[in-house]
Amino acid sequence: MTVPVFRFAPSPNGCLHLGHAYSALLNQRMAQNMGGRMLLRMEDIDRERCTPELEHSMLDDLEWIGLNWEQPVRRQSEHFPIYQEALDRLVKMELVYPAFLSRSGIKREIERSNMDDWPRDPDGAPFYPPIERLLSKREQQTRMARGDPYAWRLNMDRALEVAGTQLIWHEFGSREHKVNARPQDWGDVIIARRDMPTSYHLSVVIDDALQGITHVVRGKDLYHATSVHRLLQHLFGIEPPLYHHHRLVLDNDGNKLSKSRRDTSLRSLRERGITRQEICDLIGL
Ligand code: GLU
Repeated sequence: MTVPVFRFAPSPNGCLHLGHAYSALLNQRMAQNMGGRMLLRMEDIDRERCTPELEHSMLDDLEWIGLNWEQPVRRQSEHFPIYQEALDRLVKMELVYPAFLSRSGIKREIERSNMDDWPRDPDGAPFYPPIERLLSKREQQTRMARGDPYAWRLNMDRALEVAGTQLIWHEFGSREHKVNARPQDWGDVIIARRDMPTSYHLSVVIDDALQGITHVVRGKDLYHATSVHRLLQHLFGIEPPLYHHHRLVLDNDGNKLSKSRRDTSLRSLRERGITRQEICDLIGL
């Protein structure tokens, strides 16, 4: 029988808060209940916002709340060549295209369309105008060669065509069920950001596969992103893990906690003398 493998995968670009504590400890509890392994991964592809100091303080907080993980910690920033390879595969399959529009360029195109109901993705961002899907190879190459900045975007219509089937994923936990993936709700998502050969979506899919993750436990805020992950897994021939999207820990006003708020950070709770047990009580674990 294969041993279940869980992971907690924070981005060291701010302070961990109660929501992270819930996610990390829920992973640990589920792993323990199933006799599984617990891994830790730093999702630090953003080299400007992620710093060694923030990573250090995250590790310290995680230790303090009682998380135990296997060594070594995987750092995405140490694996850019692997993501580049995956990106190259999508380029070869002609499923991605260089997208040159800046944020203001996107806005201009949308205004020019005169459409009131321009589609938006589940995070609320407007779909990327499809005008560059049809740029000729030569035009793409000219612009790339002269140094115009670009991101790689998935040609969603083509990717769905190649996938050619209704993708699903399985939610496990208290309410096991099957979910129909809806990658089309995201439009032409970014696969590699302007300054790097990857993005959150690409790295998370590649790493979960390389680390042999069998159970992904993460917040509901990433529920819709799973549709994109299922599509990428299918295109790369990756067997999907099971998923459990857990409730979010909210503040007293019912808002999602944020990494930039210091008062609800684990660090500040700890400095105010709150104990580990009180943290567990606060998050209901
Ligand atoms: N790095 C992501 C975050 O901090 C989590 C990714 C995941 O669990 O899939 O929100």
